[in-house]
Amino acid sequence: MRDKAAYDTLIPMKISSWQTDLQSSIHKYQDLLLESGLKNDSKTTPDASLSTFPTRVPQAYLSRIDKNNPEDPLLLQVLPTIDEDKKTPGFKTDAVGEIKRHLTAGLIKKYHGRALMITTAACAIHCRYCFRRHYPYEKNQASQENWSNAITALQADPGIFEIILSGGDPLSLSDEKLESLILKLGNIPHLKFLRIHTRFPVVVPSRVTKHLLETLKHTRLKTSVVLHINHPNEIDADVRLALNAFHHAGLQLLNQSVLLKGVNDDAEVLTKLSESIYSNHVLPYYLHLLDPIEGAAHFEVDESVAHKIMEQLRTRLPGYLVPRLVKEVPDAPYKIPLG
Ligand SMILES: *Cc1c(COP(=O)(O)O)cnc(C)c1O
Ligand code: SF4
Repeated sequence: MRDKAAYDTLIPMKISSWQTDLQSSIHKYQDLLLESGLKNDSKTTPDASLSTFPTRVPQAYLSRIDKNNPEDPLLLQVLPTIDEDKKTPGFKTDAVGEIKRHLTAGLIKKYHGRALMITTAACAIHCRYCFRRHYPYEKNQASQENWSNAITALQADPGIFEIILSGGDPLSLSDEKLESLILKLGNIPHLKFLRIHTRFPVVVPSRVTKHLLETLKHTRLKTSVVLHINHPNEIDADVRLALNAFHHAGLQLLNQSVLLKGVNDDAEVLTKLSESIYSNHVLPYYLHLLDPIEGAAHFEVDESVAHKIMEQLRTRLPGYLVPRLVKEVPDAPYKIPLG
């Protein structure tokens, strides 16, 4: 299944120009309202939030939103609301304590053996609950200098065995840049594992190009792709093709979701999600309790509700399809499991 011909047939020509797909994304709040059949009322425009974290929705994702439903679970993830401009006690700009854990610009190490690289500030979609929506990307740019310092720091620490490419979304980088970075990482002898945290294959499935698959297939590093899918409606035929192409390239596929009020705080939805991802070779990994990030408080699900949902998931699903409910606590040595 790992031969080239296998994914030549999996990736039809029509999904090859992801940059063009990205360019056609919605970038304006008013356009998203218009597309979703919602009213434009200047009193409810979240001006402060939009100035720092603009609207961004790719067409492929937009096409999966039910246009006649203001409560659509996909729409709620991308629709800026006036609630974002409210301050809520306990909700901060660095909710998970990353800022002080940088080894070099753009290189974070919070956990034993694993380091995470902020490879880019860019994402294909702007998820309104994003825990890095206030991350100081300008100080941690994907410049040649910062990358070269990050590689030097990784080379100097033989205790690091896994490198996680994150961001932003690492698949915002061109295939050429990714290939060159992954080659450099593969040359660090003590690195064993490569992990890519991305939402791209779900929101712009054409991003899964042959070039990308070849790069990931050929690295010496054991590679996993951790997707970010929150709702079964996010998976359509093109997403299935993209996931299958990753699978046939021999990659380990995992999924993380964020538990979001009004989106997926429902055992039936999460059961369907687990079944749907598994049908496409992806196993559930984490279900994150919302990080208390400024501007996202309206997505918070109470911990007691989360426990009830987990109880229902355990009742309905085989153990391997139950995600681990976790909470990120600053300074903790791992993401805290909540049972
Ligand atoms: C989440 C995270 C990781 C990965 O943690 P795992 O439990 O291994 O998935 C690594 N580094 C940072 C900074 C993280 O936030
Ligand atoms: S894709 Fe990830 S990093 Fe980008 S906005 Fe969404 S949650 Fe944040």
